[in-house]
Parts: sequence; structure tokens; C-alpha cells
Amino acid sequence: MRALPASVLAVCGLIASACGGTGTGGAAAGQAAPATSAEQTAAEQTPVGRTPAKQSPPDAKPLEGKVVVIDPGHNGGNYRDPAAVNRKVNVLTKWKPCDTTGTQTNGGYTEAAFSFDVSKRLVKILETRGATVKLTRTSNNGVGPCITERAAIGNKARADAAISIHGDGAAPANHGFHIIMPKKINGPVDKVVGASSRLGIDVRDAFAKGTGLPYSTYIGRNALDYRNDLGGLNLSTVPKIFIECGNMRNAAEAAKFQDPKFRQKIALALANGLQHYLKA
Ligand SMILES: [Zn+2]
Repeated sequence: MRALPASVLAVCGLIASACGGTGTGGAAAGQAAPATSAEQTAAEQTPVGRTPAKQSPPDAKPLEGKVVVIDPGHNGGNYRDPAAVNRKVNVLTKWKPCDTTGTQTNGGYTEAAFSFDVSKRLVKILETRGATVKLTRTSNNGVGPCITERAAIGNKARADAAISIHGDGAAPANHGFHIIMPKKINGPVDKVVGASSRLGIDVRDAFAKGTGLPYSTYIGRNALDYRNDLGGLNLSTVPKIFIECGNMRNAAEAAKFQDPKFRQKIALALANGLQHYLKA
């Protein structure tokens, strides 16, 4: 991609925003190029309107150099190993189970599967935009990792931003999404509380806009909630938030979460929120 002449990049930018980014986009551009590249190159170099050659589109890789850690909540195999999952770990303000199984829709679509699918979609989008992305788990049939480890992965990666993705399991009439951000606990997270709050607001705004889901009707204020009891936040030394994408026990939201197109919408909205924060 980087080896391509600037003129080709400029053409790609004009033809398709996803030049080389996706299989279909790349193939289409690749097929068109050989027959006409000479003419196009000549045309590009003709100073029509004297537009200075805009090299590659300025936002082709807006997240180049940024590191994002994505934590898909829970794990599909957690139910198989209660001893490991229930083992207590220290999250600084209290002791909590290493992990939990998470919730599910009334139809049996699990939060672990939902969060993993959205996370994989999010990885693709962010990588296309140039970010280096790391997941805290790479399958949905394992156990854990513990919440302490999920935080440690973000810290070790020196993530510019980290996000833990969840779906809530509240009373069926409750609906809407909310963001959870860390509070000061007189611990290492304190220094990223402010940045996490800015990240949370950016993701809240992008999520509302991109998905059309309402702010939570039952938690937080304007979809923002601050907590000091979550290991994934308390132990983070990088800007980090949780998102509860909605209530999996609410029929309307459950139906949306089970639709792959809607999950793509969620992933795109999250990517846009992260990008807004990372570029600010
Ligand atoms: Zn969860």
C-alpha cells in the first residue's frame, strides 16, 4: 500500500474510500488500474486547476500509531469452569470473582458471543484505519481471562484507549445503553480518570448517533455512569471505559443485538467514538 505511487493513491481515494481496505474494494481498483493507469497518471499530473497533488487522502489511516485494546466481556466457556471463574481476585476496592458468565437474551444468545462478535468487527474497522489493536481474548469458547488480567493486557500494551464491551441483563422493561467510567480510588487508575471520562463521552456521543439506541432508562445520567467496583477499570493505567450496549433482556434490544447488521452498526459507532477521542 505504501509503495504505491502517490498518483495511484489519489485515484484510489477518488474512486473508493476503501482502496485496499477490503477484498472487494481492493479487487475492483486492482482490475481497473492496469488498463488505464498510464492515462490516469498522466491525467493526475496535468495541473488541472493547479490543485496541489494531495498525496494520499489525509484520513486514509487516521489511527496510524495508535494502540487500542478491546475487551470482549466474559467468555463463552466460563460456565464450564466455575472454580476458575469464581476464584476471588483483588480489584483494590474489594475482592471479586475472576470473571462471570455474563447474561443472555431470552432466546439464549449470550452476552459473551455478542461482545466477541462486536469486538471482532471493531478490530477490523480500527485496523483498516491504521490502529494497532489487541483483544483480551481471541475465541469465544475459552475461560476467562480474569478481570485483573483484562486490565493488565491494556496496561502492558500501553493502550491509547481501551474499551470493554458488554450487554446488560436488567429487568425487561429497562432499555438503552450506558457507558461506565472509572472513579478515583486513591490508586493507579486515578491518573487516567479524566482521560477515561473524555473517552466515555466521545463514545457515548458516537454510539447514540450511530446506533440510534437511547440513553439508558435505568442507570446513570445521560448514559454516563461512574464506578469504583470494577476490576477492569480500577486496575487500568490507560484510559478505559466499559459500554453496556443495551439490555439483552429487553425484547426490542435483544432482537437488534441478534442482527449481524446491527452489530456492525455498533462496531462502526464504537470505532467512530474511539477515533474522535484518539484524534482529539
Ligand atoms: Zn457483561
